[in-house]
Amino acid sequence: MPHDYKSTVDEIQKVLKEKTKRYAFKKLEREVIATGACIECGSCVAGCPVDAISGKRIENKYIPTLTGECTSCGICYAMCPRAFAIQNELIGNIKSAWKVRSLREHQRQDGGAVTAFLEFMLESKMIEAAVVACQSSEIPWLPIAKRVTDKVQLYDCVGTIYSHAQVVSEMIEGFKEGLSKQAVVGTACNIDAIERMESHPAGFFTVDTEASVFKISLFCMESFNYADLTKFLKDDGIDIQDVKRFEIAGGQFTVNLDDSEKSWPVKELDSAAATSCSYCQDLTGMNSDLSCGNIGSDEGWTTVLVRTALGEKVLQGTLDAGIIEAEQLEAKSVRTVANSARFKKNKYYKLRSSH
Ligand SMILES: Cc1cc2nc3c(=O)[nH]c(=O)nc-3n(C[C@H](O)[C@H](O)[C@H](O)COP(=O)(O)OP(=O)(O)OC[C@H]3O[C@@H](n4cnc5c(N)ncnc54)[C@H](O)[C@@H]3O)c2cc1C
Repeated sequence: MPHDYKSTVDEIQKVLKEKTKRYAFKKLEREVIATGACIECGSCVAGCPVDAISGKRIENKYIPTLTGECTSCGICYAMCPRAFAIQNELIGNIKSAWKVRSLREHQRQDGGAVTAFLEFMLESKMIEAAVVACQSSEIPWLPIAKRVTDKVQLYDCVGTIYSHAQVVSEMIEGFKEGLSKQAVVGTACNIDAIERMESHPAGFFTVDTEASVFKISLFCMESFNYADLTKFLKDDGIDIQDVKRFEIAGGQFTVNLDDSEKSWPVKELDSAAATSCSYCQDLTGMNSDLSCGNIGSDEGWTTVLVRTALGEKVLQGTLDAGIIEAEQLEAKSVRTVANSARFKKNKYYKLRSSH
């Protein structure tokens, strides 16, 4: 380029760079983090090519924070599953629907299907690791994302923890350490973050074509802010460290203590719900291979929606290995799931229209 053109172009580029410097992370901060839409998945942290963003824990909430110099590449914004959230479908595309129960003897949240699928995939070497969420050893019921490689570790992380876990960041760490095949368990928002990494031209999976991930989503009406959930329980005289199990079923939120239990209608916990959940319209996790929840099945069973050919293979393989029993779900049960999904959408649209 001729020198006089170059200096003019450089000058304009400098101005642009200065402007976009304020644009890239700031845009994410303004639109997603400050508004409460952030789902604490850590995909902006994991995606930042210059490691300028850190996930800071402030009062046990995970907050993406600019700790280095932003180069304005915009990847953090592009990777964020909450940056342009528009979804029209109710439960997405499904190939088949089942109720599944694990035949293994260990604790589980519902039918233990999620743990059974992961066990099958680990044992048959379909994956090298599974990313799940376990309770922190220091802070009761604070979820810590963990990579597990055998069934003993897997059985240690059964059951549901009703707060955001950074399973996506943990998955990326695994790939960075050299793994090539992992499974991830997460709520729809986590799975959306992974889908964004698969579909965006600058996404992790587009760049690293060796890496593959099997996605299991957990149905989710809402997740809770850890500090607010702790306070909600404390106001009712319950110390979270005494809780043995949490459950959401039939519109009730139940905590099991040593020799008693207490339930509230889920809507009474609205004040403790994660703010990001008011931006979510997806109950079942439409971007996954398998979606699992309790809605639509009897107690002790997991409802499983199969969405992909790989999902079909895993269900069939787990069945053939004798780890689970499964029955095709009746149409009326699928309707129950769809109605719950509609309930979640209704909640979303009412909230949006009041803004
Ligand atoms: C925040 C949240 C809200 C939910 N709300 C509903 C609901 O409204 N209706 C419904 O039908 N189902 C809901 N579920 C799903 C349900 O609680 C069960 O997880 C599901 O039915 C699978 O049961 P299972 O016995 O097959 O799982 P298990 O075999 O017990 O395995 C559960 C797996 O999930 C992992 N896990 C637990 N918590 C998290 C987390 N926070 N993030 C990522 N992974 C995690 C565990 O490590 C384990 O690997 C919710 C789950 C979560 C995390």
